[in-house]
Amino acid sequence: MPVFLLACLSGFAQSGLDYYLPKDVSYNPKIPTPKDFLGYEVGEMHATPYEINAYWKEVARLSERFKVETYGKTYENRELIFITVTSPSNLSKIDQIRSEHKKLTDPSQSGSLNIKNMPVVVWLGYSVHGNEASGTNSSLLTAYYLAAAEGKGIDSLLNEAVIVVDPCINPDGGTRFSSWVNQNRSSRLVSDVNSREFRETWPGGRTNHYWFDLNRDWLYQQLPESRGRLVKFYEWQPNILTDHHEMGSNATFFFQPGVPARTHPLTPQSNIALTEKIGRYHAAALDKIGSLYFTQESYDDFYYGKGSTLPDVNGSIGILFEQASSRGHLQETVNGTLSFPFTIRNQFSCTLSTLKAGKEMRMELLAHLRDFHAEKPKEDIKAYVFGGGNDPVRTWEMVNILKRNQIDVYKASKSEKVGNVEFPGESSFIVPLSQARHRLITSMFEKRTTFTDSSFYDVSAWTVPLCMNVPFAESKTGLTLGEKVLENPFPSGKVVGSSTFSYLFEWDGYYVSRAAYELLSRGFMLKYATEPFTGYADGKQKAFGYGTIQLVCKGKDPAALLDSLAKRDGITFYAQQTGLTPSGIDFGSAKFKVMETPVVLMISGDGVDYNDAGEVWHLLDQRVNYPLTIADINQVNRINLSKYTHIILNNGRYGELSEEAIRSFVVRGGTLITLGEGAVWASQKKISALGIKPGVSNNGSEKRPYALKEVYDGAMETAGTIFETKIDISHPLCYGYKQNTLPVFKVNNIAFEDTRNPYDTPLMFTAAPLIAGYVHPKNYERFKSAPAAVAQRAGAGRVISFSDNPNFRAFWYGTNKLFLNAIFFGKGI
Ligand SMILES: [Zn+2]
Repeated sequence: MPVFLLACLSGFAQSGLDYYLPKDVSYNPKIPTPKDFLGYEVGEMHATPYEINAYWKEVARLSERFKVETYGKTYENRELIFITVTSPSNLSKIDQIRSEHKKLTDPSQSGSLNIKNMPVVVWLGYSVHGNEASGTNSSLLTAYYLAAAEGKGIDSLLNEAVIVVDPCINPDGGTRFSSWVNQNRSSRLVSDVNSREFRETWPGGRTNHYWFDLNRDWLYQQLPESRGRLVKFYEWQPNILTDHHEMGSNATFFFQPGVPARTHPLTPQSNIALTEKIGRYHAAALDKIGSLYFTQESYDDFYYGKGSTLPDVNGSIGILFEQASSRGHLQETVNGTLSFPFTIRNQFSCTLSTLKAGKEMRMELLAHLRDFHAEKPKEDIKAYVFGGGNDPVRTWEMVNILKRNQIDVYKASKSEKVGNVEFPGESSFIVPLSQARHRLITSMFEKRTTFTDSSFYDVSAWTVPLCMNVPFAESKTGLTLGEKVLENPFPSGKVVGSSTFSYLFEWDGYYVSRAAYELLSRGFMLKYATEPFTGYADGKQKAFGYGTIQLVCKGKDPAALLDSLAKRDGITFYAQQTGLTPSGIDFGSAKFKVMETPVVLMISGDGVDYNDAGEVWHLLDQRVNYPLTIADINQVNRINLSKYTHIILNNGRYGELSEEAIRSFVVRGGTLITLGEGAVWASQKKISALGIKPGVSNNGSEKRPYALKEVYDGAMETAGTIFETKIDISHPLCYGYKQNTLPVFKVNNIAFEDTRNPYDTPLMFTAAPLIAGYVHPKNYERFKSAPAAVAQRAGAGRVISFSDNPNFRAFWYGTNKLFLNAIFFGKGI
C-alpha cells in the first residue's frame, strides 16, 4: 500500500509523461506530446472532448500509422471520431484487410481463410460515461504512444494488429463534466471530499444530451452516438473491445471476467476462458506499477446492451474496466489520496496490456471469431415470425433494429398461422435461426424466466417484439422465406379522397401524436371519438375505433399538409363528405370530444431520476416534435403553474417540491402525470387517492450467514422484467391499442392497491403476468392483478399514475402511447 500511495501522490508531479509511458521504447520527436499540443500535462487538467479529438487529429496528421474518420454527430453537434492505427503497410491496404477480417463472420467464406497471416483487430473505447474521465484522458497517451513509439516491439505490434479507437464516446456528457471539474479546480488541489469539485449539479455528465446512459444502448441503438458506433463495430468485428469506465472513489480497479454465475448463458464458455486469459495480462501490468485490482465480483456480463457484453454475443471479447474515480483532480478515499493522473495511468496500462494480449493471442482470437460464427444453432426453434398488428411503424423499427445488428430478415412469402396467431403475408417478417448470428437472435427473441443467479447489474429481459409490442411467434418447423429485406423504407401513409369538410385518422400509429400536435399548433380543431363508429374510406364503409381523430376543415381542404404528414408520420387520412355516419356516433355528437392543445411542464432537478426525465424529453422533442418546458423543483415552487395543462412527475424524490402548488394545480383542473416514485409521492401527499402496497423484505425468523446478506437483498430487486397487463381499450389512456393485453416493463417494486372503482384502472397486471425476466416470488405476489396505471379525478383536475416507466430507454415503443395518451387525452378522463 505505501508504494501505491507514493506513486499516486508524487510520481506525476515531478516526472510528467515519464510517469505514464513505457521506457523500453524511444519516442519520435516529430510527434507533439499532449503537453506540447494542449499546454498542460495529461492529468493536470481535465481535457475537454474537443481537445481530445483535436489532439488525435493532429497526431493523425503527422503519423503514417493513423487514419481518422467521423462516425457521427451528437445531439449537440459534436463530432464522434474513430481512428484506425496500424503499420503504414497495413494502412495502405486497410480496406482489403477489413474485408478479409469480416469474412471470419461468414461461415461460407471463413473456412478458406488463413488466419496465420491476418492481423488481430483490437477496439479501444473510452468513457461512454462522460463523468468517468480517466479513460478518455488516457486516450491522449494512447495516441502519443501509438504515433511516437519507435522500435521493434511497436513495429511488430502494428504489423500484427489493427487498432481501432473510439477516444471519446460521449462528448456531450464529457463536455459538461470537464467544464465542471475545471471550473471548480483550485491551483493548490483540494482533496476534501466535500469540495464542490466532486459534486456536479443535476443531471451531471454521465449521460448524453437527453440524459441517456449510452452504455445501455448498444443493442437497440436509439441514439445517434450508438447508431454510428455500431456501424463501425460491425464493419470491423473487433476481436477484443475495451470499455473504460470509472466506479466509486473508494474502490480500486476492476477488469473482467465478472461474476461467473451472472454471465449470460448464450455467451459461450470459450469467451469466458479467453476473457480470463486476457485478464492475466492486465494483472501483470497492474502488478508492475503496484496498483490494486479485483475481478469476478460486482460486475456481470448479462445484459447484451452494454459495451462489454454485446461483443460477447458476436464472437468478440468485450472487456469492462472500472477505475476508482478521483471525480476531480485529487480526492481523499479510504485507500488514501487518489489523484487523477494515477487513475489515468491504470487505464493506460490496461490499454497496453490489452494490445499485448491481442498480439500474443492473435491466432486464438481470430479462430474464436471464426468458430463462433461457424457454429450451427442448437435450438429446436427454426425461425421467428413477427408483424401484422395495427401499427406498421413499430414493426418497421423492429426490422431496423435487427438489420442494424447484421441479422438477416426476410419478408413472409405468404400468410402464416403459428399457434393461435395469424401473420398476414404482406406485413410480416421472418428471421431464420440458421444464420451466423443465431445466438444474438435468440437473445433478442427469447422469453427467459429461469436464471442461475438472482442478482442483475442491469435488466433481466429485453425481448425485442415485446418492447415493440409487435405480434410474434417461434416456429419449430421453419417457414417459407420471401425475399430478403435489403432496404426498409418507412411505411408512409396516404390521403384517401379530398374534402373541405372533414378527415378522419386512426390513433393506432406510433407517430399519430406528432401529426396531431402539428395540426393543433397550426390551429386546426381536432375531435376524438370516445366510441367506435363507421365512416367512409374511398366511398366504402369503414369501421373506426376508440380515439379516432376527426379533423374539422372549416371550408378549406388541407390536402397538401395532410399528404406531407401522411409521409412523415405513416398515417392514412380518410376524407369524409358528411357528418352523418352509417352507424355509431355522428360527427356532431358530444362523444366526439375536443382535443386540447397540451401545455406541458416537466419537473427536473435534484432528486429526479434524470434517465426517466430524459426519456420523456427525448420522446416529446425528438418523436413528437413537442416543445416541452422543463423546470427545476426550486423554480417550480416560485412560478405560476396555471398556464400549464399538464405537469409530469417522473420517478424520483420530491421532498423539496411544494405539495401545495401541485395540489392547487390539480384541483383547479390540471392533469398531473406521475410515474414510479413520483406516483408514490403524490399518493403520500394525498394529491392522488391512490394506495400503495407496503414493500416486502426477504427476511424472516430464519438466521442466515451474514456474508449472504447481499445475495438475499439483491434477489428482491426487480431489475427490469417484462410483465403482461390487461388493458381497457375503451379508456382514453389506451386509445390506439387493439389487443386486450400489453407487455410492460417493470424496474421497481412499486405495486398499487386496487382502487375499488371499476372505471379508473385502464391497465392491470394479469393474474400470472410474468413474461420474461426475473422476479422474486414475494414481489410477484404483490404485482399479480395489481393496477399498473390509474386515472383518478381530483377536484376539477385529475391524476394519472403509472407504477412503471412506459418510456424506458427509448426502445419501449410499445408503451409510449400510454404516456402520450395521458397528455393528449388526459383532459377527457
Ligand atoms: Zn461507467
